[in-house]
Amino acid sequence: MTTRREFLQQMALAGGALALPGIASATSKQPVIAAANGARVVSTWDFGVPANQAAWNVLRAGGTALDAVEQGARWAETGLCNSTVGHCGYPDRDGVLTLDASIMDGDGRCGAVAALEDIDHPVSVARRVMEQTPHVLLVGQGAQQFAVEQGFEKQSLLTPEAVQAWEEWKKTSRYQPQINAERRLIPGNSQNHDTLGMLAIDQRGNLAGACTTSGMAWKLRGRVGDSPIVGAGLYVDNEVGAATASGVGEEMIRNAASFLVVELMRQGRSPMDACREAIDRVVRKRPEASKSLQVCFLAINRHGEVGAFALHPGFVYAVCDAQRQDALLDSGAVYPGEGA
Ligand code: ASP
Repeated sequence: MTTRREFLQQMALAGGALALPGIASATSKQPVIAAANGARVVSTWDFGVPANQAAWNVLRAGGTALDAVEQGARWAETGLCNSTVGHCGYPDRDGVLTLDASIMDGDGRCGAVAALEDIDHPVSVARRVMEQTPHVLLVGQGAQQFAVEQGFEKQSLLTPEAVQAWEEWKKTSRYQPQINAERRLIPGNSQNHDTLGMLAIDQRGNLAGACTTSGMAWKLRGRVGDSPIVGAGLYVDNEVGAATASGVGEEMIRNAASFLVVELMRQGRSPMDACREAIDRVVRKRPEASKSLQVCFLAINRHGEVGAFALHPGFVYAVCDAQRQDALLDSGAVYPGEGA
């Protein structure tokens, strides 16, 4: 299976349309991005760089933030094969791959799906929930039935690599999420979790966001994380700004974290200060647990200013606007070194 880093490096070497520089040179220590004065899209993790590009194609052409984040998330779901998002995701404890996604517009409209099986674009199903139903969240079989009714094709998404990783995991059956597992490039690593969380502001100043993930590898059957929970993994409000999250979703749900970040911005915090204060809240609630798990927040305000913060070093976020399409930045972190 190609890791996201290998993919990015291949793209850079190929000098393809994305023209990505090497990851090392694309990563800087800047924690905050100033006002955009125009369209901008930001995403979690290094695969956010090419995902942003898919969103930017929409924003550059004058499209809406909502369309942009849907396209960006769709890219992450099928454009790249990795073990934490979309069609190459790792399954749950019982060997079943389930996908979670949400989408939200700056006017408060939102839709989400959780524990969706065998449908390759959960973010687009989430958008249909938002636009075609009176509901916000559909789960499991009902979500799948709705997707099929909406014309989505049912297909097995579990790759042979994911099955092999699951077989390997079953030898110990130890559920222990790793901090920044993918970024550590552990060969054959089989304990990981990440989310593509994307936030955009369009040329009209409207905000939107989307999240998509396969959740925690080897989770209990039926477990749902923060990504499809509006207010936990994603929150958007045109009056203020938008926030998204990655990491162990139980912590985001406990703290209504993305909503918290937006409300802190409403009270006057910068995006980075809001993310930092939300991270402090996570630590205060569970000081011991927070030492050994990762939680990361990314936010943008209505002026286009961007900030991020994490529990542990290693969280990177991608920024794309008219000035630069491939920025990849390190967030600040509470703890000095990567945890256990
Ligand atoms: N937040 C996701 C979940 O808990 C996983 C991640 O982003 O690392 O499902």
